Amino acid sequence: MIGLTATDSIRATNPLMQEQLTVRFWGVRGSIACPGPHTVRYGGNTPCVEVQAGNQKFIFDGGTGIRVLGQELLQHLPVEAHVFFSHTHWDHIQGFPFFVPAFMPGNLFHIYGTRASDGKTIEKRLTDQMLHPNFPVPLQIMGGSLNFHDLEIGQVVHIDDVTVRNTMLNHPGSSIGYRLEWQGLTVSYVTDTEHFPDALDPNVLTLAQQANVLIYDATYTNDEYHEAGNSKIGWGHSTWQEAVKIARAAQVEQLILFHHDPLHDDLFLDDMGRQACRHFANTIIAQEGLTMTFAPNGNSSLQYASAISPGHE
Ligand SMILES: [Zn+2]
Ligand SMILES: [Zn+2]
Repeated sequence: MIGLTATDSIRATNPLMQEQLTVRFWGVRGSIACPGPHTVRYGGNTPCVEVQAGNQKFIFDGGTGIRVLGQELLQHLPVEAHVFFSHTHWDHIQGFPFFVPAFMPGNLFHIYGTRASDGKTIEKRLTDQMLHPNFPVPLQIMGGSLNFHDLEIGQVVHIDDVTVRNTMLNHPGSSIGYRLEWQGLTVSYVTDTEHFPDALDPNVLTLAQQANVLIYDATYTNDEYHEAGNSKIGWGHSTWQEAVKIARAAQVEQLILFHHDPLHDDLFLDDMGRQACRHFANTIIAQEGLTMTFAPNGNSSLQYASAISPGHE
């Protein structure tokens, strides 16, 4: 067990250490970036999660958070990373054209994603979003080495001693979820998925099974999801209440509520965190800058980007 709460186990971590697994959040917001005075603490950037597993760097999604990650990576050139896209809705790709390391010769990015329902590859879709007149600079200008990989649903990828699995999620944009395994540690990245009304999604359970960290789409509350006249049923997203059910059923160690609705300001998320913790104690609201570190020997730690309290203890 990670055995920590959101505030009393904050310790310094060293992201440069190699024999550990580090999860760092650069963008936690769904749908559209929403910077402003009411989202300062949890952050306004759209999805991007960095996972350092031993010597290998992984990036999940290229929302606006990847721009900020790119700035940080400039301190660690040259960069090699494996970038896995869940799908190509705007909030998961719009930061990629601003990912500076991809423009720099000497850096190497392995980019993974499934084909869209119309057959378009991840390379084609990332290329298309940078075409004139939508964007001034084409993807071909990127001077880093970009190696594109088309994933099949269920394909298992081995990268040195890291394994990355995927399954299809329940989402209008054909999102896929990932499960990264390294040295007995597991991170599950499950965003942009809608739960089923009558049973837990077996694909999500497979990804989440006994994970050290489950990052899960908690865009809505149950009340919002079922709101009369404004129901979110069929929109492709889930709730914190469903996240808790999955975390329990899959015996997850640490649940991270992710892909926050842009309408959910800091105070709303504070309250959501308090409620969720009552049902699943090891729950954290994803926050930009949140860094979690795990070692294969069971040691773990948690660090927030600033001294600002996460507010949900
Ligand atoms: Zn999304
Ligand atoms: Zn989506």
